[in-house]
Amino acid sequence: MQSGQAQIKVVLLGDSGVGKSSLVLRFVADNFKIDSDSTVGASYMGKSLQFNDKTIKFNIWDTAGQERYHSLAKMYYRDAQAAIITYDITKRESFEGLKRYYRELQEFGPKDIVINIAGNKEDLVETEAVPPEEAKEFASSIGAIYRKTSAKTNYGVEQMFRDIAAKVLPDV
Ligand code: GDP
Repeated sequence: MQSGQAQIKVVLLGDSGVGKSSLVLRFVADNFKIDSDSTVGASYMGKSLQFNDKTIKFNIWDTAGQERYHSLAKMYYRDAQAAIITYDITKRESFEGLKRYYRELQEFGPKDIVINIAGNKEDLVETEAVPPEEAKEFASSIGAIYRKTSAKTNYGVEQMFRDIAAKVLPDV
């Protein structure tokens, strides 16, 4: 690894309303704003995490609304090392949508991009609509990491980024 601060570009994918902006807000600012507006277009936020004696900066691109701005796709994915494809565990259709985002990643994303599937809204597990086994099976079929998260309670959020760093930069 190069000396100095290592950086990882992470792009977010997933249907509107699954909680992408909330996850970034939680990770970056340790904050959760209920009824946040859906993002339009692409936005970017940075956050650093300490790993033993190394600091890794995550540059996180939020794609909410991306499907309406298809021309952004190439620029959006350029040099991304990781993608988080999020679904809402209480909404089956947001899980069905994962395949489409995966295809889009294959089309526009770098070949060796690390993929993480986030089953968000873990705090609503009582109304879970997708059996976790099915989600894990899908993730493993595309070589992705699978993790449940909650932007509301902070469940699994930092760990998801640590998993990503460990896979993108195995020597940290
Ligand atoms: P985006 O369109 O994917 O960026 O989704 P948002 O971050 O705007 O979130 C959509 C809605 O889901 C908002 O009302 C959020 O407050 C809510 N939300 C996001 N994450 C969670 C979560 O982990 N748990 C619960 N209960 N609600 C969440």
